[in-house]
Amino acid sequence: MSEKKLRLKNNSKIAIIGGGPAGSFFANDAIREAKSLGINIHITILNSKDFNQKGPNGCNMSAAVIASTLHAKLTRDGIILPEHIIRQKIKGYYFHTEEYGIELYKPDQTNKSTIMAVYRGNGPLFSTHTESHSFDDFLLKHVIKQGVTVISEPVLDLNISSDPDTPATVVYGKGGQRNKIEVDLVVGAFGINSNLANKIENLNLGYIPPKTVRTCQMEIPLDPAFIKSSFKDNIQVFALGIEPFRFASMVPKDNYITVSLVGSRDLTSNDLIDFLNHPVVRKNLPNNWEMPDKFCMCLPKIVLSHAINPFSDRLVLVGDASISRIFKNGLESAYITSQLAVRTAFEYGISSEDFARHYYKPARKLLAMDNKLGTVILAISDFVTRQNWLVKARLSYVEDKRGSWIANHLNALLWNMVTGDAPYHKILIQAINPLFQIKLIPITLKALIIAIVKYPFYRNPTK
Ligand SMILES: Cc1cc2nc3c(=O)[nH]c(=O)nc-3n(C[C@H](O)[C@H](O)[C@H](O)COP(=O)(O)OP(=O)(O)OC[C@H]3O[C@@H](n4cnc5c(N)ncnc54)[C@H](O)[C@@H]3O)c2cc1C
Repeated sequence: MSEKKLRLKNNSKIAIIGGGPAGSFFANDAIREAKSLGINIHITILNSKDFNQKGPNGCNMSAAVIASTLHAKLTRDGIILPEHIIRQKIKGYYFHTEEYGIELYKPDQTNKSTIMAVYRGNGPLFSTHTESHSFDDFLLKHVIKQGVTVISEPVLDLNISSDPDTPATVVYGKGGQRNKIEVDLVVGAFGINSNLANKIENLNLGYIPPKTVRTCQMEIPLDPAFIKSSFKDNIQVFALGIEPFRFASMVPKDNYITVSLVGSRDLTSNDLIDFLNHPVVRKNLPNNWEMPDKFCMCLPKIVLSHAINPFSDRLVLVGDASISRIFKNGLESAYITSQLAVRTAFEYGISSEDFARHYYKPARKLLAMDNKLGTVILAISDFVTRQNWLVKARLSYVEDKRGSWIANHLNALLWNMVTGDAPYHKILIQAINPLFQIKLIPITLKALIIAIVKYPFYRNPTK
């Protein structure tokens, strides 16, 4: 059969597996695209989680910070977050290292879009609010209003025939039931915490899921007045330079803070306890704070690489199951991959060749190539944050010389590292800026001399 025949047409059916952000973004964009082409499309989202539940069972576990760049795109698309979904508007970031901390300021003050902290599910386990707080549920309801059908049942199996003329089959159901639907296109938006990835890998279509590592998250209930006065609407980011932690953050959400830890290996609840007992971290908690007996905690995976061949005839994968920017703004990657996949499906076709050329290639160029640079930059950043003498010297310089070119440059570099505002290639260009490097030489030399004089026999305890 020729590639041309594999196209979406009037009354085509699409099944989206997963009702997280990638699934809803795909549906939202597909409806808009179908309207502009004047065709009718039937979209069904199959989702295994009930976002009305509190705790991990109803949550697509994440720090749930919506970057200002994504927020601007959602606003442009008419997706306006209601007040009950926004847990806190974020002013900026406070960057902590083992010995020093500084408040980072927004490099581009003319940019008025806001960073938002939300909940992906209906808030922490044991929380007592009554109104729905779920960002993912809000997105799902947004697409339901536009005619999308949502079935709240897990997909169990999937069949993509080797004969392109045969529609794809999706098998779903719970409690031993197996219901089937036949569709023209299957969209895999099931993330990385699902066993469906391995099922699709075993279909021998060429798909290899992304590599992942297990992170650790906890929701800490605190007095809202304490959070307001202590966090000052800033996300606290910790680069403590100690194993196994690579990134750690505390995101204020009115009466809770979300602690998120990413490590160089799979993390456990013991790592969470170690982190919370670190003196720099303790300073951000009330003096008398103790680990509660019952609390909301989860160990979700995060991507470390991109998937290989996230497509075949009549199948395309988006969001985390496909290509996401590592350690940055996964929600926006879900938005980008969904948009690219929709454009391909409606403007070119739904064959393997169409997705390879018009979806996978540009998505790889945009996100995956950038991840390669990201891996190098993050390794350098890990090394630098372990050199306390250097970090302290540079950060205190930013603090003392606020407003100077070099302080602004270093602030912008750190801001882009901790937010999703800039791709890694832009961060690299900022980091290797010759003027910046030259201006850093005297600061670095001075700090090195002080370190040698003060601690001639110092050994880094993490090594
Ligand atoms: C610790 C941590 C912190 C993070 N912090 C941020 C952050 O602050 N900002 C940010 O932008 N990104 C963050 N991310 C990344 C972000 O969470 C992901 O990139 C994003 O959730 C990907 O969206 P998705 O729709 O692809 O997948 P998911 O959000 O995982 O959604 C997948 C959906 O598919 C459903 N599903 C799975 N299997 C099946 C099945 N068999 N049948 C039916 N449905 C199924 C699930 O129920 C779920 O609703 C973080 C990730 C982690 C782990």
